[in-house]
Amino acid sequence: MHRDAEFLVVGLGAMGSAALYHLARQGAAPVGIDQYSVGHTHGSSHGHSRAFRVFYNDPVYVTLVKAALPLWQELETLSGEQLLTPNGMLAFARPGNERLDQNIRVMGETQAAHEVLTAEEVTDRFPALQLPADTVACYTPDSGFLNASRCVRTHVSQAERFGATVHSGVSVRHIDISKEQPEIETSAGSYRCKRLIVAPGPWASQVLKDLSLPLEVTRQQKFYFQPQDAEALYQPDRLPVYADYDRRYYGFPYYGPGIKIADDGHGPVTSPETVDRTLDLDVQNALEQWLKTIMPGVNPTFVEGATCMYTLTPDNDFLIGHHPLNSNIFVGAGFSGHGFKFSTIVGKILAELAVDGKTDYPIDKFRLNRFG
Ligand SMILES: Cc1cc2nc3c(=O)[nH]c(=O)nc-3n(C[C@H](O)[C@H](O)[C@H](O)COP(=O)(O)OP(=O)(O)OC[C@H]3O[C@@H](n4cnc5c(N)ncnc54)[C@H](O)[C@@H]3O)c2cc1C
Repeated sequence: MHRDAEFLVVGLGAMGSAALYHLARQGAAPVGIDQYSVGHTHGSSHGHSRAFRVFYNDPVYVTLVKAALPLWQELETLSGEQLLTPNGMLAFARPGNERLDQNIRVMGETQAAHEVLTAEEVTDRFPALQLPADTVACYTPDSGFLNASRCVRTHVSQAERFGATVHSGVSVRHIDISKEQPEIETSAGSYRCKRLIVAPGPWASQVLKDLSLPLEVTRQQKFYFQPQDAEALYQPDRLPVYADYDRRYYGFPYYGPGIKIADDGHGPVTSPETVDRTLDLDVQNALEQWLKTIMPGVNPTFVEGATCMYTLTPDNDFLIGHHPLNSNIFVGAGFSGHGFKFSTIVGKILAELAVDGKTDYPIDKFRLNRFG
């Protein structure tokens, strides 16, 4: 005996919670299921902050991040929650950094607001930051950061408000893609639906095993530090999100437990079942040294750290679109460590695909069968 649902969403992390919300907003009365409770800390979408960065190397991402902004704002208005802190982002590197230069070119091509700054101008504007004299920096004022756990919870609570049903603690064991109406076997019985959205984060290889997706899961860690002096210099109104394009380190102003810093370089390959959540002291020390270099007055004290996972595709671009073997299944996966900012627009795209069979957003580069 199946439970029937017209629209079913598997996985209620950043992407699935957003898809559930956008389906519910359209009156589709979706059902969402997740193996854990909403806002859990086992996947990729928990914590206090994720960069909302306009600064990208490809106009497609700039288009999508611009499309995401009004959706985040609408969600804030509906819920009364503050989700986005629009305090800008500063990317910087020594001269000749190809990634930085390419992003600056794309900012110009896409007419995204940006300012190229010298090290001196950076310190004038953001006194905590003191960068080497020959640094090239680019400030994008429309960037900022999102409160990650709050975004997920808000998408789900607003989805419920608009008629969605959520089943937490329900684990998907098998998806039968051979049926026109997909059948989903779970720890709490089976479901059958007309349209299925699957957004399983780092569990994608297991949940979508028919596709043999070329995904790699890596362990990533983030560390919080308390500045001992002049706390005010590190607040979001005095310090933007900042990213060092030479080191691939990035950080946030003082928010939640402290100043968060992390390494965007890919950590050791792992899996959701085996991920080692012990904090890596070498990474912590390297990041702390970096923080002291770019903010000589910070005098940081370690507060806490946390572990999360990236789910990487070979080209670091997302997987969004129809399941190649069943046209009633839609997939959002492989967000390669930079998906959160887009989650509300990804959810909207997945909802449009499920309801209308198409979307006008530019998702061709994300098609699932591009790796052959
Ligand atoms: C340390 C770190 C820093 C990051 N920083 C940024 C940033 O600054 N900016 C940015 O834009 N992005 C950032 N990202 C990336 C971003 O957080 C992820 O791309 C995004 O959160 C992925 O969301 P998801 O919904 O795909 O995965 P998840 O949030 O992991 O959601 C997947 C969900 O599916 C459920 N699920 C899986 N399998 C099953 C099953 N069998 N049955 C039932 N439920 C199942 C899981 O329980 C989970 O809730 C960062 C990621 C990390 C780890």
